[in-house]
Amino acid sequence: MEAKHFIDGAWVAPAEGGTLDVINPANEQPFAKIAAGTAADIDRAVAASSSAGKGAWGRTSGRERAQLLRAIGAAIEAEKQALAQIEVRDNGKPLPEALWDVGDAAYCFNLYATYAEELDANQGTPVAVPDARFKTTLKYMPVGVAGLIVPWNYPLLMAAWKVAPAIAAGCTLVLKPSEFTSLTALELGRICDSAGVPAGVVNIVTGLGQAAGTALSRHPDVRKLAFTGSVPTGIAVATAAARDVKSVSLELGGKSPIVVFDDADLEQAVEWVMFGIFWNQGQVCSATSRLVVQEGIAPRLIERLAEEARKIKIGEGMGEGVQLGPLVSRPQYDKVLGYMETGRREARLICGGGQAAGFNAGYFVEPTIFADVPPSARIWKEEIFGPVLSVATFKGEDEAVALANDSEFGLAAAVMSADLDRAERVADKLEAGVVWINCSQPNFLEPPWGGMKKSGVGRELGTWGLMNFLETKQITAYTSRDPWGWYLK
Ligand code: NAD
Repeated sequence: MEAKHFIDGAWVAPAEGGTLDVINPANEQPFAKIAAGTAADIDRAVAASSSAGKGAWGRTSGRERAQLLRAIGAAIEAEKQALAQIEVRDNGKPLPEALWDVGDAAYCFNLYATYAEELDANQGTPVAVPDARFKTTLKYMPVGVAGLIVPWNYPLLMAAWKVAPAIAAGCTLVLKPSEFTSLTALELGRICDSAGVPAGVVNIVTGLGQAAGTALSRHPDVRKLAFTGSVPTGIAVATAAARDVKSVSLELGGKSPIVVFDDADLEQAVEWVMFGIFWNQGQVCSATSRLVVQEGIAPRLIERLAEEARKIKIGEGMGEGVQLGPLVSRPQYDKVLGYMETGRREARLICGGGQAAGFNAGYFVEPTIFADVPPSARIWKEEIFGPVLSVATFKGEDEAVALANDSEFGLAAAVMSADLDRAERVADKLEAGVVWINCSQPNFLEPPWGGMKKSGVGRELGTWGLMNFLETKQITAYTSRDPWGWYLK
């Protein structure tokens, strides 16, 4: 499958012949090539997808699709080790994290198998209307060809979040993975094929965002765009969708707060604050990258965080005990180091702040904490997408909420306090689509996922994720024997 797209059930060379190197972020060495897709490849994939949707696939039941989804889930589970190792090489993340992601991806396909079956049961659901002469029922139809565009931070998992509900809904799809991490998406193509997904239902085109991504989002035969990535790209995708009045859902960036009150358990706070910003090298859309901490606990918490951050083992993702791998790519590395430089001017550096020592190559940076960060600082306002924590203090609850909500983003937020009434009160006031109490980041696939403000439009996961790929149709029948009697008296 090297340097090929997966289109119409076959591995095909890119129309214009271009390829892109796949770089291992731990040593900066190219180790594979992917196809550099262009508009011609997207045209071919959308045509295959469109024609598959009009064929037998369009008449499948949810139960039939559930069988395929379970077969895909089982195959991912069976290949977990191999897939996780590809993810480590491609993305850089530590192996235990990659194993967790791959397990979640398998779970996602199994979960949407259940939703596909429920969809059959929900076809024909009545809607009560206030006139006994009429009977209204609902039908759910696949939206059509779906264009799925995903980022590099959880390569297989972000693809699964979209591919599984699209299949469950009965859509056909074209997936465009990130140019930095396309390998497990291509493996997913192979797995779907082996699981018996008909040709043309799942198509995967690799390539640069500017080429393949733009072509996919602008293609007139794509009816739904499901995008996860940065705000500027999300705006470009939504603009393209608007031109053809396509349905669009956007999962974008964040600058999420974690609010810690004086009465929180100190050691639990250390654990969750660290998990919220250092896991996956901080390359997490929902990372709680702003610590909003009450003045009483702040000095001790910052001291303990720094102590523990310095102990984190940095290294190649396959290394024993490694908890911080390299960042994904050279551009990401340069960006994060740039923010560390900015942070040194804007705030007080507590620990880290630059390249990790002891590496001749690879995009390794230190876990970094800045304190006394003013709300005007760039490191307070902008998404860094790296292991960089910005800390600010507050006196009272209202100030905490105001500081936490002072962001153009609204993806996630967390609050830690021994007083559960207070934690729930604050949770209610936080402007975020996902709020954690006394933890940060654990994510289940059943509840909805998505953000407020510039963090996105719509919700993924759970049945909300399924609805993204369905059109809801009402069928209203006049069932009375009496004439309507408007014109014909
Ligand atoms: P990105 O926006 O650079 O790229 C995302 C995808 O869009 C890639 O596949 C890319 O090739 C493609 N793309 C780039 N330009 C395009 C264009 N003009 N038209 C169409 N497609 C284009 O984002 P990234 O750097 O890969 O990912 C990091 C971002 O993703 C962060 O901002 C992060 O917060 C966000 N993210 C959000 C969630 C969420 O659930 N909200 C999850 C993961 C990542």
